[in-house]
Amino acid sequence: MPELSQRIQTLNTAGSDGWEVFYRARQMIAAGTPVTELTIGEHDIRTHPMILDHMHERARAGHTGYAAVPGIRPLRDAIAARVTARTGTDTTADNVVITAGGQAALFASHIALCQPGDTALHIDPYYATYPGTVRGASAIPVAIPTRARDAFLPDPAVVDRIARETGARSLLINTPNNPTGTVYPRETLEGLAQVCIDNDLWLISDEVYDTQIWDGHHLSPRALPGMAERTLVIGSMSKSHAMTGSRVGWIVGPQPAIKHLIDLSTNTNYGVPGYIQDAALFALNEGTWLETEVGEPFRRRRALALDILAAQNTVTAIPSQGAMYVMLDIRATGLSGRDFAERLLDARHIAVMPGESFGASAAGHIRVALTVEDALLAQALRELCTFAKDLTT
Ligand code: PLP
Repeated sequence: MPELSQRIQTLNTAGSDGWEVFYRARQMIAAGTPVTELTIGEHDIRTHPMILDHMHERARAGHTGYAAVPGIRPLRDAIAARVTARTGTDTTADNVVITAGGQAALFASHIALCQPGDTALHIDPYYATYPGTVRGASAIPVAIPTRARDAFLPDPAVVDRIARETGARSLLINTPNNPTGTVYPRETLEGLAQVCIDNDLWLISDEVYDTQIWDGHHLSPRALPGMAERTLVIGSMSKSHAMTGSRVGWIVGPQPAIKHLIDLSTNTNYGVPGYIQDAALFALNEGTWLETEVGEPFRRRRALALDILAAQNTVTAIPSQGAMYVMLDIRATGLSGRDFAERLLDARHIAVMPGESFGASAAGHIRVALTVEDALLAQALRELCTFAKDLTT
């Protein structure tokens, strides 16, 4: 076989470790051992039947051919109207391109913004695909460390220093955050916006959890002064409407950038299926009740989790304000996140993600996905706390 490109060969090689726990849990389940799975960020409900009925109807009505590559106009209009209403920043269909989920949007954004060999910054801890996505775009990912005692919020002064040292081209942020559940406050976003302006950086703002805020407010940095012209916002129907498998998301940004991103779409996936876009439009037109219903279990379980954690003092919760996760500090046990997760899986058949899977800053932590029903989650968390306490005695 002739040699493969360096790009593809190195896509995942520098990735963080810790995914072994996840794969081992899957193997145990396949072999018939019951495991409480608190690993993956996916709802335990499926797409609402009303959305599926609409998808089916539109497919039967003939929307199975090539759809408009930028996205169907009514969906782009609906997203533009939604963004305008939420951010107060004028947004039209020309600022929107529809993508195959948030992941394709992240990849397309880095392709659009970075020259091969450019440095692309992201905040550590991070969603696990980020470094591979950047490498896939032939750029060099550089993770910016944060600290547990700052709730893993980035310090704009640190970002500024690293941006200068590396001559970076872009900065990728994610609020509400996976894996930490942290929601960036206004002062952090204003500080980061200033860093972007001072260093002439593009900002990629991953806002796929923007409908899942349990404490505080979501602020899109695109709404900050001087930022609309240097920000690409990543959105998705995956988390807000439990449509993970439908693969429909978007990028919102300055019109000239969107024009080129449409060219990229022409040369990659050639648009997103029309009946899926119709279903996404239908779901958005339902208004907020559907998003509230999809998010409600996470709101409830976050409160449940924080109550259980408040009743003991071995494991400490990072203040989770959004998304479907709680990040726990288990350093009092003396174990790494990875060793803790391995042992928890063996001893109690509970699977959580080691913090190290999301970057070095989350070492000594674990991420708990709030994606099983309440009673099972409560039982698993109580067992986890007892397990942690036993390790300290
Ligand atoms: N960004 C973050 C922070 C995520 O957690 C995920 C999925 O878990 C994605 C992007 C990608 O989501 P999708 O491609 O399903 O829209």
